[in-house]
Amino acid sequence: KILEEEEEEGELVERPPVVTVMGHVDHGKTTLLDTIRKTDVAAREKGGITQHIGAYKIKLPNGKEITFLDTPGHEAFTTLRARGSKVADIAVLVVAADDGVKPQTVEAINHAKNAGVPIIVAINKIDKPGADPERVKRELSQYGLIPEEWGGDTIMVPVSAKTGQNVEELLENILLVAEILDLKANPNKPAVGTVIESKLDPKKGAVATILIENGTLHQGDYFVAGYTWGKVRAMFDERGNQLKEAGPGTPVEILGFNEVPQAGDKFIVKKTEREARQLAELRKRKREEELLAKKARLHFENLAGQKEINIIVKADVQGSLEAIIKSLEELSEKFEDVSINVIHSGIGGITESDVMLAAASNAIILGFNVRPDAAARKAAEEENVDIRIYSIIYDLVEDMEKALKGMLEPVEREQFLGTCEVKQIFRIKGVGTVAGCLVTEGVIRRNAKARLVRDGVVIYDGEIASLKRFKEDVKEVAKGYECGVMLKDFNDVKPGDIIESYEIVQERQE
Ligand code: GDP
Repeated sequence: KILEEEEEEGELVERPPVVTVMGHVDHGKTTLLDTIRKTDVAAREKGGITQHIGAYKIKLPNGKEITFLDTPGHEAFTTLRARGSKVADIAVLVVAADDGVKPQTVEAINHAKNAGVPIIVAINKIDKPGADPERVKRELSQYGLIPEEWGGDTIMVPVSAKTGQNVEELLENILLVAEILDLKANPNKPAVGTVIESKLDPKKGAVATILIENGTLHQGDYFVAGYTWGKVRAMFDERGNQLKEAGPGTPVEILGFNEVPQAGDKFIVKKTEREARQLAELRKRKREEELLAKKARLHFENLAGQKEINIIVKADVQGSLEAIIKSLEELSEKFEDVSINVIHSGIGGITESDVMLAAASNAIILGFNVRPDAAARKAAEEENVDIRIYSIIYDLVEDMEKALKGMLEPVEREQFLGTCEVKQIFRIKGVGTVAGCLVTEGVIRRNAKARLVRDGVVIYDGEIASLKRFKEDVKEVAKGYECGVMLKDFNDVKPGDIIESYEIVQERQE
């Protein structure tokens, strides 16, 4: 919409829709993406060998194009969106006709709904003897996806990803929805896009796939992506062919980044190298400052003035889940100006997908007798998502009541780890200042937070950047041992200083 207002009408041209394929594991996402890839009529003229770059574009016999994201899992959708970029225009939800709606199907529906992305259902595996497409339709109806033939507005196409049956029809329906969405872009301006995937290639250096959303990218263009920058040294399509330029809707793999950007970073072409570098450096500094400031930030603090709290509920058993949701509804009704909005709920542990959905929708995750797995914990930390664990429903409801009243107690607190005393200073050229220390209490931990205290006054509050014992990197050094400590971005250390190491932990409310 904004695009249309900004652009000169005449310069806008149709662009290919960007499609993400979602669904439960083993329902046939990969197979469908492979089959679709083979329908590309331009494959022959493109030549080359298929490579995985995270997205590909196909041309249909009628000349129209569609871009598919083939990033595994929900990543294409959720990571990207959590970082503020809505990449996909349309979601294809794959549901196996012999298996029906499963937990990840429901997750996918909620992700797409939250992003406001239209869903087309591919009822897959209809070639199998046990296939029951009607059952899938019935089940999907319970989640608000009503098939057109039943008077609803969700397109459902029975397909076989394996035999290719009806896949063309599915593609036609994608084009149909795309037409309604009226997707336009202006190829005559500097490129803007999103990082879909990125990696550090041992030979080529930092490599990333960019989906060009607007404008045209040219070899030699300078760009910023998040806090990285660079110059397009070379770019390739999904068949490894080198391109000189790429227009809207085209995914391209690019060489020439100074560092590896993150999936979801916005990619913007800049006029000069200087502009690109300065913007990237500014962002990097800002990000570092934010990380420092983040330490004890609370989500509930930010609720003031909000009308709705988005909640994701995960519980161990159906009975508890129902009881919690019912209690939350009752609680919500007690308040007039604010409400609780359960955007997703399910049985089982807290997953990365839950966290990404929470990040994308600014939601809080409530776990009842369940825990986040390692990936979810990591994602929660990166995305700053609040996970609260309970074992008593009453506590959960009480907390939510407090949240609604905007007065919840802090959930994060500081955990003291230990202290060490600086005995000696080593200035190492090109590295910085290493403080030779003796641990006097507890432990000193690498990557933990750290304060430098001089004569009782805190003169630095940041992080331990490196921790060594006899030149070797170690994770932790305990009381009574000596170690070499480097503080992040801080070199003004003196003998006699005290370094205190601490962590920010989440207070479990059990
Ligand atoms: P994903 O986990 O959703 O990516 O699922 P896959 O594409 O890996 O498919 C899982 C399994 O289902 C594989 O063994 C596929 O060969 C099989 N499969 C996928 N689509 C079909 C289909 O249309 N018909 C049949 N019979 N099997 C299929």
